[in-house]
Amino acid sequence: MTSTTHHTRRDGATEHYDAIIIGAGVSGMYALHHLRGMGLSVRAYDGAPSVGGTWWYNRYPGARVDGPSAPLYGYTFSDELVKEWDWTESQSSQPEVHSYLEHFADRFDLRRDIQLETWVRSARYDEATQRWQVETSTGLRASAQFLVCAVGALSTPNTPDIPGFDAFEGECVHTGNWPQTPVSFSGKRVGVIGTGSSGVQAIPEIAKEADHVTVFQRTPQYTVPARNRPLAPEELAAVRENWETLRAGMTALPDADAALPMAPGNGRSAFDETPEQRHALYEELWEQGTLAFVFRNYAELLVNEEINREVCAFLRGKIREIVRDPETAEKLMPDHFYGTKRPILDSGYYETYNRDDVTLVDLRRDPIEEMTATGVRTRSGEHPIDVLVLATGFDAISGSMLRLDPKGRDGVSLKERWQSRFHNYLGLMISGFPNLFMIHGPGTPGVLYLMPLGAELETEWIANCIRHLRDRGLGAVEPTHAAELDWDREVSALADKTLFPRTDSWYTGSNIPGKPRHFSVHLGGPAYFHRIAEIANEGYDGFVFTPALGERANAGSR
Ligand SMILES: Cc1cc2nc3c(=O)[nH]c(=O)nc-3n(C[C@H](O)[C@H](O)[C@H](O)COP(=O)(O)OP(=O)(O)OC[C@H]3O[C@@H](n4cnc5c(N)ncnc54)[C@H](O)[C@@H]3O)c2cc1C
Repeated sequence: MTSTTHHTRRDGATEHYDAIIIGAGVSGMYALHHLRGMGLSVRAYDGAPSVGGTWWYNRYPGARVDGPSAPLYGYTFSDELVKEWDWTESQSSQPEVHSYLEHFADRFDLRRDIQLETWVRSARYDEATQRWQVETSTGLRASAQFLVCAVGALSTPNTPDIPGFDAFEGECVHTGNWPQTPVSFSGKRVGVIGTGSSGVQAIPEIAKEADHVTVFQRTPQYTVPARNRPLAPEELAAVRENWETLRAGMTALPDADAALPMAPGNGRSAFDETPEQRHALYEELWEQGTLAFVFRNYAELLVNEEINREVCAFLRGKIREIVRDPETAEKLMPDHFYGTKRPILDSGYYETYNRDDVTLVDLRRDPIEEMTATGVRTRSGEHPIDVLVLATGFDAISGSMLRLDPKGRDGVSLKERWQSRFHNYLGLMISGFPNLFMIHGPGTPGVLYLMPLGAELETEWIANCIRHLRDRGLGAVEPTHAAELDWDREVSALADKTLFPRTDSWYTGSNIPGKPRHFSVHLGGPAYFHRIAEIANEGYDGFVFTPALGERANAGSR
C-alpha cells in the first residue's frame, strides 16, 4: 500500500492533498482505501468522534439493518474481509455493524488518514488553482484538487420545529444522534414522536423498559415482520463458498423488460394468477418476513395501483388481526401505496399497542400544540413525559450536501444551485462545481440499493474519472447543465412509471419544509451502474474537461 504522508505538502497553515474526503462512514472509508490505493494523497474528515457514520450515530434501542446482513450488507471488494467477518444475525444490529466498520478501518490501516471530530465548515472552489479550499471546525485549512463528498444520505437528523420546544425540562434524545452514554427508560414516562423506520424499531424496545410510552404518530406505517434470527455457521459458510456467484448476482443487469429494474419481482405477473393465489403469496411472504415482501413479490407491486392496493388491504388486515383494540387499530391504518415510503421491518411493533402501558396519539386528529416544561400538549390535553424521543428521521439524500453548502465557480453556492431542483449529472457531479464528486447523492440509486456495494461502484467510477483526467494532464472536470437536465429527465421518467412520486415521503423531500419536492432517487438498481460505466467508457459524454493550469494547479500532488 502507498504511504500518503510523503505526498502531503504543508504551506503555512494549509495542508495540501490530492483528494479530500468528507465523511468516514461506509462510503468515505471505502473512497479513502480506493483512492489511496491509486497513489493519491488523501485526507478524510468527519465531524463524528468515531468512524462508521450513520452506524455510529444511530445507536438507539432496536437499531439494525433492514436488508439481510450477509452477504448483502457489507463491502464486497475483499474476499478476505468476507471470509474473516462472522456476522451473527440475519439482520445485523447497530453495535455489530459499527464493530465491522471499525474492523474495516483497522484491517486496511485507514485511521492514519482520517481526522475525526472535524466538521468541514466551508468548501470553496478556487478557479485560479483548480483546487478546493476547505476550512474545518478545528481551524484547520486544507486544499485538494478533488473533493469527494461522502456526507451520507441518512446522516443529517431532522428535528421538528415544535412551539415551546425549549420549555421542556425533561431529557430529549434524537434517534439519529443517540447519546453515547446509555439512556435509561426504567420508571420513566417516555414520549416518542415519529413512526418511520427508527420509531418502529425503537418503540417495542423502549416499551419493554419504560413505565409508560406515548407514541405521537403523524403518518401510520405498513411494517412487515423482520424475523431476525441468529445466523447458522453453515449459512455463512454457504455465502463464502458461493461468494463469486452471489456478488455477480448483486450487480447483474436486470431484464430489459423489467417494469422496475430496481425491484424486478419474482418473475410472476399478478395478472396471471387468481385473487386466491395472490393472497397465498402475500401470506407466504408475510410469514417469511424481511424485505422479501418487496423483492419476492409480483413485479407489479410498485408500478400498478390495483395490485398495490390489494397488498395494502392485505397488510391492513394484518394490523386488524394483531391489534386488539379496534380504535387503536384504526389509528394505525396507513393510506399510502405500500413500498413508496421506505419499507419498514419490525420486531413486535403492532403487538406493542396491545400493552396497557402504551398509548397512541393520532396527530392528524389531535395535533401537537406545544411542548410544556413537563410534557407534550396536543389539542386534547397534556401528555406528561420524562424523556422525549425524536424519531423524526433525516433531512435525507440531499440534506448533508445542503448543510455543507459548497461554493463552486464564481462563488455560487449549492443552496442557490439546488433552490428548485437537485441538479446533478449521474448523481455524481454538479455543473459549476468542478472536481467535486458525491457518493449516494440525489440522482443515484443511493438509499434504494445495497449502499455499501453502491459506494464501492460509485467510488470506482470517481477513481476512473480522476485517472482519465490525470493521464491526460487535465486539471478539472464538470458536467454541462444540458447533461444535468437530460439526467433529471431520465431519473424522473423512471420514477414516473412507478407509484413512488405519488406519495409524500423523505424520498421526495416532503418531510422538510421548504425543500424542493421531487423524487430524486434513480430507480435503475444495477442498471444505473452499467449506465454510468458506459458513459465513462464512451468518452465521458456530457462532461467538460479543462486543461491543467500548470505546476501551481498540481501543488502537493506529485
Ligand atoms: C438504522 C439504519 C438501518 C439501515 N439499514 C440499511 C440496510 O439494511 N441496507 C442499506 O443498504 N443501508 C441501510 N442503511 C443506510 C445507511 O445509511 C448506509 O447503508 C450507509 O451506512 C451510508 O454510509 P455513508 O458513508 O454513505 O453515509 P453515513 O454513514 O451517513 O456517513 C456520513 C458521514 O459524513 C459525516 N459528515 C457529513 N457532513 C460532514 C461535514 N460537513 N464535515 C465532516 N463530516 C461530515 C457525518 O458525520 C457521517 O459520519 C441504514 C441506515 C440506518 C440509520
